[in-house]
Amino acid sequence: MIRHLYVHVPFCAKVCPYCAFHVHLGGAAAQRDFVAALRTEWQRAREEFPLALDTIYFGGGTPSILSAELFAELACEIAVERANHPPQEFTLEVNPATVTEEKAAAWRAAGVNRISLGAQSFDAGMLQLLGRQHEPADIAPTCALLRQHGFTNINIDLMFALPGQCESAWEETVQSALACRPNHVSAYALTYEEDTPFFQRLQRGEYQQDEPREIAMFERTRELLGAAGLIDYEISNFARPGFESQHNLAYWRGADYLGLGPSACSTIGALRWKNVPNTAAYQERIARNESVREEREEIDAATRAKERIMFGLRMREGVAREEFLTDPARLEKLKSDGFALEEAGQIRLTPRGQLVADSVAAIFV
Ligand code: SF4
Repeated sequence: MIRHLYVHVPFCAKVCPYCAFHVHLGGAAAQRDFVAALRTEWQRAREEFPLALDTIYFGGGTPSILSAELFAELACEIAVERANHPPQEFTLEVNPATVTEEKAAAWRAAGVNRISLGAQSFDAGMLQLLGRQHEPADIAPTCALLRQHGFTNINIDLMFALPGQCESAWEETVQSALACRPNHVSAYALTYEEDTPFFQRLQRGEYQQDEPREIAMFERTRELLGAAGLIDYEISNFARPGFESQHNLAYWRGADYLGLGPSACSTIGALRWKNVPNTAAYQERIARNESVREEREEIDAATRAKERIMFGLRMREGVAREEFLTDPARLEKLKSDGFALEEAGQIRLTPRGQLVADSVAAIFV
C-alpha cells in the first residue's frame, strides 16, 4: 500500500541562479497542457498501485503558480482517492509572490492543510542575489493572508551561508521569520549545484565558501529556533511538537512513495525510478500512452538499510541500534570519538556529529 504522493509542478515565474531542479517558465496554456498530462499519469498510477494516501506533497517548481481553477481541477482528480481515506497532511509549496485571496481559498477548499513558504531570506539584497521575485515586506502579509484562510500549519523555508551574508544579517532573517509565528522552519545552507550560474561563479572565484561561517550560522540557527520552541527534529528542520512534516519523515524513515510529474522520483518495494526530466518529453510520452519512467534501478534490502541509516542519523529520533548490525565496529568508533550516542536502543548524532553529518553518514554508504 502506497501512502505518500509527491507531485512535481515544473513551472516558475523566473528561474533562480542557484536552482538545479527541473523547472522552467510556462504560461496559462503550458500549465493547462501539463495538468492534463499529470491527470492522465495519476489515473494510470491509480490503476497500477494500491493507494491509501497519508500525505500529499505538491512541490517543484512553484506549484502555487497554477491558477486557482487548474489547481482545483488537479486536486479534485486526486480527491477521488481521498474520499475514503483523507490524508493527514497535504502540503503545498508556495512562493510568496504568487499568493492571492482566490488561490488561498481554492487551496483550502481542495484540502491543503500545510503550506511551505519559500521565503529564503528577509534581506532585500539577499533576495535580489538569489533572483527571487518577492520582497521581504511580502512575507509577513502572505502568512497573515494564509492564516485568514485557515492555514495554521505554515513552514518557512530559509537559506543561509549565502554569498556576502554576514552572521548578524542571518540572525535578523531568523528573527523576522520567527515574528511570522511559523510552526515549522526549514533552514538549509546554500549548496552550489553543478550546472547553475552560482556554481560557475564559485568556479570563477567570484563566490567563496566559508565553512567556519557556515558552522557558526548553523549553530546560531539552532539556538534561536530552539529558544523559540522549535525543536530540531531533523538537522535542517525545526518544528513545534506535532507540526513535524509527516511527508518528509516518511522519506527519511524509508517509506515507499510515488512521484508524479517530470523529474519526480518514486521508490516502491525494490524498485526506484525517475520520471523523464523534461516537461515536453513527459507530455509527449503521456499522449502516446508510453511510460514516462526512466533511470530505473533495483534497490536491495542492504541499500535501503544504508539509506535508513543515512537519513535516520540526521533525525533527532535516530536509528535503531539493530540497523547497524552489519557494521558494529564503525558504530562503536563513532561513539567513542564523540560523534554519536546511544539512548534507549536508538543511535543519534551528538551536536559535534551533526556538524559533519554528511561525512558520518557516508561511512555507512
Ligand atoms: S522558485 Fe524555487 S524551484 Fe523555482 S527556480 Fe527558484 S529555487 Fe528553483
